[in-house]
Amino acid sequence: MDFPKILTAHMDDPDVRTLEGYVRVGGYEALRMALQELSPEDVLQRVKDSGLRGRGGAGFPTGLKWSFVRQAKGDPKYVVVNADEGEPGTFKDRVIIDHKPHMLLEGTILAAYAMGAREAYIYLRWEYPAQYRILEQAIREAYEHGYLGERILGTAFSLDLYLFRGAGAYICGEETALLESLEGKRGEPRLKPPFPAQAGLYGKPTAVNNVETLASVPAIVKHGPEWYRSFGTEKSPGTKLFNVSGGVKNPGTWEIPLGSITLRELVFDLAGGPREGRTILGIIPGGLSTPILSEEEWDTPLDYESMAARGTFLGAGSVIVVDDAVPLPTLVRRAVEFYAVESCSKCTPCREGTAWLTRMFRKLEEVGGHGEDRQILDKIIRYMRGKTFCPLGDSAAMISQAFLEKYEDRLFVHVASPGSR
Ligand code: SF4
Repeated sequence: MDFPKILTAHMDDPDVRTLEGYVRVGGYEALRMALQELSPEDVLQRVKDSGLRGRGGAGFPTGLKWSFVRQAKGDPKYVVVNADEGEPGTFKDRVIIDHKPHMLLEGTILAAYAMGAREAYIYLRWEYPAQYRILEQAIREAYEHGYLGERILGTAFSLDLYLFRGAGAYICGEETALLESLEGKRGEPRLKPPFPAQAGLYGKPTAVNNVETLASVPAIVKHGPEWYRSFGTEKSPGTKLFNVSGGVKNPGTWEIPLGSITLRELVFDLAGGPREGRTILGIIPGGLSTPILSEEEWDTPLDYESMAARGTFLGAGSVIVVDDAVPLPTLVRRAVEFYAVESCSKCTPCREGTAWLTRMFRKLEEVGGHGEDRQILDKIIRYMRGKTFCPLGDSAAMISQAFLEKYEDRLFVHVASPGSR
């Protein structure tokens, strides 16, 4: 299968990581054109018209978010790049930073120009030390060549960009917890509203955007929204990066126009299908927090609407393939235990619920389970669903529910042998 390359164009050229290499393949042309020929409103309108949706998981229209920030009362305004990429199974942002860090920088500068921000921050996850060095180098180069700092490219627009390293908490991928952490506080989600567009970093209007979202912006500004809309579907325009990991022969990352292929085609044709002697039991479509799909659902197209119609999410496009290599009770216990460990403990349904889910799935893993255990699990899930302060707790309950509904026979008969954990 042949797909257009927008984000991944020239990624096989190691020089593209440098400013010189990036400029040689047309990098920073969109910024130069925007600063010299387009008003901030024009840039914002292009992004709005492109239909670009946030690539971090929620899929919120990027141009709309930017217009909220632009129109919000309050000064200064901030752009914050969410590079916390802590969702298990997700490594697409790392691919962008590894190969084309200047594409992210260019998108960030364009976003700041469109919204009237003078300062931007990249919040990078702690576990990405190599990417920290890559970004540090890219930012240094951008300052040295006049793409950052005072009077960018000789125009009246100025921007400072700071690189900030998180401390390794999964919850800091949630935008308000990220902002708390960036302000030097404990990373806990804030009550919404107000949303960051009204009161974000230091209480000022702030756009928090994912790495892939911002990396998509230079091409949109350069080629225009109609060109971008020629890829993907009407409601999910453009291309998107998809990671595939887990039980496949050929794990990796592909850039695909949204809605152009199905989940089955991605896993079986591009990622090579099941490993030798293994059977694929289910596919988690958008990172660990998204409900698993069983075989009859694998022909779903890879776009936001089609996944939502299946009761799951496209999420970050991070596909985890579950095969029979690990007993299912062990796999689900590990998943819910992750949420129990990463819960910030602010709200009771999440703090207690994730701990109870872990205990219950551990029981299924170690000694098996019966009807009463199923009833207890259902009660815990009912106690959690829709009652947690942020999506972390709800995700733990939601994915548990999906496993129980689709794989009850495998969860309740298994008795693990000693040492299988
Ligand atoms: Fe913290 Fe969990 Fe509540 Fe989110 S749902 S605020 S992570 S305790």
